[in-house]
Amino acid sequence: MFSRAPNRDLPTAVSAEGAWITDADGTRYLDGAGGAIVVNVGHGVRSVIDAIGEQLERTQYVHPTQFTTDAVEAYAEEVSAILPLEDARIYPVSGGSEAVETALKMARAYHLAQGRAGRSIVIGRRNSYHGNTLGALEASGKAPLRKPYTPWLGRFLHTPAAYEYRCENPKHPEGCAEWHASELERMISSYDPETVAAFVGEPIVGATLGAAVPSEDYWAAIGEVCRRHDIVLIADEVMTGFGRTGSWFGVEHWDLRPDILVAGKGATSGYVPFGFAAASGRIHDAIVEGGGFVHGFTWSHHALGAAAGLAVLRELKAGLVDRSRELGERIRSELGEALADVSTVGDVRGLGTMLGIELVRDRETKEPFARGDRVTERIVEAARERGLLVYSSTGHVDGHDGDLVMLGPPFCLTDEDAGSLIERTTDAVRCVS
Ligand code: PLP
Repeated sequence: MFSRAPNRDLPTAVSAEGAWITDADGTRYLDGAGGAIVVNVGHGVRSVIDAIGEQLERTQYVHPTQFTTDAVEAYAEEVSAILPLEDARIYPVSGGSEAVETALKMARAYHLAQGRAGRSIVIGRRNSYHGNTLGALEASGKAPLRKPYTPWLGRFLHTPAAYEYRCENPKHPEGCAEWHASELERMISSYDPETVAAFVGEPIVGATLGAAVPSEDYWAAIGEVCRRHDIVLIADEVMTGFGRTGSWFGVEHWDLRPDILVAGKGATSGYVPFGFAAASGRIHDAIVEGGGFVHGFTWSHHALGAAAGLAVLRELKAGLVDRSRELGERIRSELGEALADVSTVGDVRGLGTMLGIELVRDRETKEPFARGDRVTERIVEAARERGLLVYSSTGHVDGHDGDLVMLGPPFCLTDEDAGSLIERTTDAVRCVS
């Protein structure tokens, strides 16, 4: 095994139900972050497990250039009706990074179809995360993840992050949306708009900035710049999608309609590896009529992902998106109160059940802890000792220092377990302060 955690002895997970995972020793863990903010509907949901089994009884593998399947067609029909895109067309793949790669190529194919071969630059944002394959990593702005591969990167550009707690706008909080839009405009004009293909961003920044919610009119301002220059706007909803932020998709909080939307994680809630890039009808038609899409994966358009996705969609439709919103509001407010007097807690933020806690050495100056203090790692460990799993990230302040802890429980979390999540999180954070 080439382990994801080579220096740690990992417990063996043997079963999971609702918001709980049990290991081989019988220890139970409250899955406070659904792994990596993945398990939206919860573990062990019978309808999803059955849908996967039933699909396997019908077909296993057929090549997507030779056949379609009822599962893929039914999923496309049902999911496109809720996507915040005009006449959405989905391209199913095996995960978030592949979905981002697909979206970037769709943007390029769209411009090629219009005879604009010069349009190749993608603009991402600093401190963003879009995946670990090379194209997705190139779009990402998280320095520690890019560093080992620097010789392979460098063609895309990055604008400032929409990060209210440490906003780069010198006049913050005044005119942040206009400032961000003018930074983007400045970058586009310095490279010539006829070279820019796409802008990609997470509606609410996920792991790299711990659920950073932008200012109210940020997305309207960015969307306007993109539209004016015919730059394809890609919303990376891999983490924010499928109810996580308390609405079906993150962009809905600001009525933004992107040209392409990327999904993963919560789309199948982790039951099978899956993701998709959805293009608006306008982008799809331009590509198909104007030259086609040179792209494809062996596992794209797989029936298993579609069957799991459809079953998850139906679970979510039965009230779970509202539950994510209510649950998130309660956790954020009670956690904020419980941590109000903890001097190391700089910020408690997020929307729906996508929540982040930023730890700082000094609340006034927002000075981060030195990396050597291992504050995040110690909180994660303290939480684990209390039977709670959280998600985390480090290095966002300057590529080295910076401590973030994230919560993102399954939406089926009971009120009692929500209380336990708040209590255990508070204890873990307090014991490291
Ligand atoms: N985009 C965002 C916003 C993500 O959070 C992630 C994963 O964390 C990805 C893309 C990459 O997805 P995957 O890990 O499924 O390749």
